[in-house]
Amino acid sequence: MTATSRPSLLQRLNQGPVICAEGYVFELERRGYLQAGAFVPEVVLEHPEVVAQLHRDFVHAGSDVVEALTYYAHREKLRVIGREGDLEPINRRALEIAKGVAKESGVLFAGDICNTNVFDPADASSRSAVRAMFEEQVRWAVDAGVDYVVGETFSWGQEALIALEVIKAAKQTAVITLAMHQEEVTREGWSATDTCKRLADAGADVVGLNCIRGPGTMLPLLKAIRSAVKTHMAALPVPYRTTQEQPSFQSLRDPHWHGDWGSRPFPTALDPFVCNRFEIGEFGREALALNIRYLGVCCGAGPHHIRALAEAVGKRPPASRYSADMSKHAFLGSHERIKQVQKEYANKL
Ligand SMILES: [Zn+2]
Repeated sequence: MTATSRPSLLQRLNQGPVICAEGYVFELERRGYLQAGAFVPEVVLEHPEVVAQLHRDFVHAGSDVVEALTYYAHREKLRVIGREGDLEPINRRALEIAKGVAKESGVLFAGDICNTNVFDPADASSRSAVRAMFEEQVRWAVDAGVDYVVGETFSWGQEALIALEVIKAAKQTAVITLAMHQEEVTREGWSATDTCKRLADAGADVVGLNCIRGPGTMLPLLKAIRSAVKTHMAALPVPYRTTQEQPSFQSLRDPHWHGDWGSRPFPTALDPFVCNRFEIGEFGREALALNIRYLGVCCGAGPHHIRALAEAVGKRPPASRYSADMSKHAFLGSHERIKQVQKEYANKL
């Protein structure tokens, strides 16, 4: 794998859609290797083989990118869990694992920085703290030889702009995505469209939205952004059935269930709201029709969602070999071997 032998992200986007699986922390939480709440990827140190296998699973399912699991591997989060001393090892190990899988499978290798949770527009010193956190993580990503850097899940437009500046100062291709909560504006009150335009004008190579909103409540925002932005766009919703009344996965309420912390199912009781693979496929077709080519699924995504997304935009990943063929089903099938007595029982199943 050399930089010259493989097309870059932008070359690939100029040709057509690029799939990027995200949401690793949610999937690893479900698999029992990562703690919800903290959502810090200590797993890269404790069970690197599990992370490598998850990367492989997503590539098999159609991801064209392995993103290093450095989401929430930043200084502030490591302070919260009392492991600041592990900051550099956790980043370097996550990058090394991702690079290894990208190399063996020939896909792109991306670095990742994200919301710091310390940005405060009223506190000028928070800007330099945020910048320093991004600079150290981007430096490790560049050391590892990433193909590009993702800056994701920003709900402050100003924090996204700082991330972009740091990525660009390191001479890297930048994919910047915003996390839009219930309001259709960033926390400082900028529209998603205006914020994406500012990012594109400031040199972002790809702009768009990730996380927080499901397909149904992300698409209207994407349409508005598309009409104002000429750069490549990214769309990576969460795979949950969000609604106009409950537009974010944190605002979803489950009328059938009450847990210790009320009826808010986020983050570990969202199962009844999960989109099926066909809904994710439909989202992919609609987003591509808007000429949004950087497509993925965020927190909650499983490999079946990624395969459906990839197939919906015309790809055939290795996992497509096992895509459903109901003609072979014992009762519902149409294969010549299926006996009439079986077919007749189908309505009683
Ligand atoms: Zn997410």
